[in-house]
Amino acid sequence: MPSDLHIHTNFSDGRLTPEEIVTAAKAAGLSYIAITDHDNVDGIRHLYEQGLYPGKGICIIPGIECSSQAEGHDVHILGYNINIYHQELLDRLNDVVEGRWTRFTAMVEKLQELGYAITETEVLQVAGTSKSIGRPHIARVLVQKGFFPAIRTVFAEVLGNDKPAYVPHYKLDPAEIVALVHAAGGIVVLAHPKLVGDDDLVERLLKLGFDGMEVFYPQHTAEDVIRYQAMAEKYHLLLTGGSDFHATLQRYPDQLGIFTVADRYAEALYRPSAALV
Ligand SMILES: [Zn+2]
Ligand SMILES: [Zn+2]
Repeated sequence: MPSDLHIHTNFSDGRLTPEEIVTAAKAAGLSYIAITDHDNVDGIRHLYEQGLYPGKGICIIPGIECSSQAEGHDVHILGYNINIYHQELLDRLNDVVEGRWTRFTAMVEKLQELGYAITETEVLQVAGTSKSIGRPHIARVLVQKGFFPAIRTVFAEVLGNDKPAYVPHYKLDPAEIVALVHAAGGIVVLAHPKLVGDDDLVERLLKLGFDGMEVFYPQHTAEDVIRYQAMAEKYHLLLTGGSDFHATLQRYPDQLGIFTVADRYAEALYRPSAALV
């Protein structure tokens, strides 16, 4: 039976609820799944607190995908078997959420100072239920109110990196995430190394104390898999893989069970003692 170690729910940017993910995973015949939402563990907590965890007939691995940056590249870091009630982990994740709000408020204030009459309320109305409010929502308000002809122009003139209303993201750095996941009892895996965009940087990152690397990934070609497998062996890392499922039609795969890994990769990660009971 196959497994999938990289899945998003609607607690981050996936479309399905955690319950729907578990149902779909069982229907697809998966043995192990890991729920790895962006910067939060609320989906797993939800399953646990609803009495739906552990799932019957399927092993669920509590996970997370933390956003980070290094040398100007986006770096995503997966944590598996984490204690989702670990206080330090929850505190730092909360800082990330607060950082998003602080950034949003700061950008709106900068725009107001520059003479663009927009309010936080207007942006919140555009953002709707989106949890990660950001520049695209602000840009839409500026276009709607006729300050700019197009979103592109907003970014070119005021909201793009280093433009006058830009405020940088608050992100945890990779070394801090490695330490945090370890402190929460987890295994740290470098997600989709190809998407980092620089293999030399990938090697430097691996030296920070990673336990594994996500070698099997929809956007990795057969050559990428061979290259990252060799790199993982060089650093004595576990090999992992997953579909990065979001349940959106625009993104392959749009169903669970299409992109999977052999169970042995999940078994190497799975720690029954770390699972919630
Ligand atoms: Zn990612
Ligand atoms: Zn992901």
